[in-house]
Amino acid sequence: MKLFDTMEKKIVEIALPKEVRIYVCGITAYDYSHIGHARNIVLFDVLRRYLEFKGHRVKMVQNFTDIDDKIINRAIKEGKTALQVSSRFINEFMRDVEELNVKECIRPRVSEFIPKIISAIERLLNDGFAYKIERENGWDVYFHVPRFESYGRLSGLSTEELKRHRIEPDPLKKDVRDFSLWKSAKEEDFKANSYFESPWGYGRPGWHIECTVMSSEILGIPFDIHGGGMDLIFPHHENERAQSYALFGREPVKYWLHNNFVTVNGEKMSKSLGNIVRIRDVVEKYGGMALRYFLLSSHYRHPLDFSHGKLMEAKRSYDYLLNTLRNADMEISYIKTFEGGRGGDVIESRMTDFMLALENDFNTPKALSVMHELSGIINTKLFTSSLESLETAFKELYTMMDIFGFLRRYERSPILSQDEMKRIIEREEARRRKDFFTADRIREEFRKKGIQLVDTKHGTRWFISSSF
Ligand SMILES: [Zn+2]
Repeated sequence: MKLFDTMEKKIVEIALPKEVRIYVCGITAYDYSHIGHARNIVLFDVLRRYLEFKGHRVKMVQNFTDIDDKIINRAIKEGKTALQVSSRFINEFMRDVEELNVKECIRPRVSEFIPKIISAIERLLNDGFAYKIERENGWDVYFHVPRFESYGRLSGLSTEELKRHRIEPDPLKKDVRDFSLWKSAKEEDFKANSYFESPWGYGRPGWHIECTVMSSEILGIPFDIHGGGMDLIFPHHENERAQSYALFGREPVKYWLHNNFVTVNGEKMSKSLGNIVRIRDVVEKYGGMALRYFLLSSHYRHPLDFSHGKLMEAKRSYDYLLNTLRNADMEISYIKTFEGGRGGDVIESRMTDFMLALENDFNTPKALSVMHELSGIINTKLFTSSLESLETAFKELYTMMDIFGFLRRYERSPILSQDEMKRIIEREEARRRKDFFTADRIREEFRKKGIQLVDTKHGTRWFISSSF
């Protein structure tokens, strides 16, 4: 499989073991999650599903940052503790993730890893990769960037660029690029109850060290794929790599994989522009599957621009795929119930093209177009294909849609019993003599059993009502 490795800055052939270990940086839990988060979550969920389809076992971790300035600020504003704020938004996130049909993964929280983080920082101090500066309430600890020779290699930024990127020059720091490992407690941290005991007094970890510690503890070093949004390449992942390399003496990650942003009317989402689109709001309006479709409709390395028109289009496209799958399914159960079998046309497999699209730098829009081609053929040959071929085509489309996480609660159309068959025939006769009272009563009988009847020009078909 080929993917764009940020470290190599090119598309590379990636070699993955039977058990693949993936770490993806997660949200900072201080507000509702937006569709930019959703893009990252859904992309890695599909990658994971695809690898599982290919026979890998996937151990996937996505963390929650529950210690952070933004959480602390909100907690103070609301008169709460930082952990109360973060727990609330972690719960909200989990609701969103369920709507998006994202598979469960390991979701560690920073606050659960404080002792491990402290011992990692102690090691960095002991090995001379870090130093401390005394402050009002204890010590700040910094990673000393010049100690790590290949700093900047991941982001590809030059030393000059790296220096320019540091926003707050601190005269006590040894190098402007040095970054925080431990922050001594400030007044706000006490107010929001977001401080921990350490060898350097009360304080809390810097942002980057959490991912180094959680990834190495849960997955081991090196692990296979480290993912995140493009905005995390620098400084977060550059710093993470430096820390992990310093701690373990080797490259911590085999492949770095980053996804591009979601924009709104061509602009980046931001609080200051007031153009943040929440997952919650889109799901309420169009449904989780339409959002999922939209997020996969652009290549992961290209920006994706949000608009209501595009969401409506995504919903239509998703509904078309789902209806096609259901049409095939209904026809199969009809043939099996009433005819036992059928000969006829062959529907050619599209699985190779589907896989080729994903193998080649995970081209999800191309894979979607293959699903549409297959759907077009299924719909055209629905009543003329052989039962065997229709079943194969159904399974193929089902597999593709499942890899894309499009089937949240899909249930196969059942084969009907002798009694049910009789009722269907009685209903068709009732309809012919315009006895709609009887026809509706029989429809209601099926509805109560959770089966929805569909009248087509080829007769009655049916599916499980709760299935989509
Ligand atoms: Zn991270």
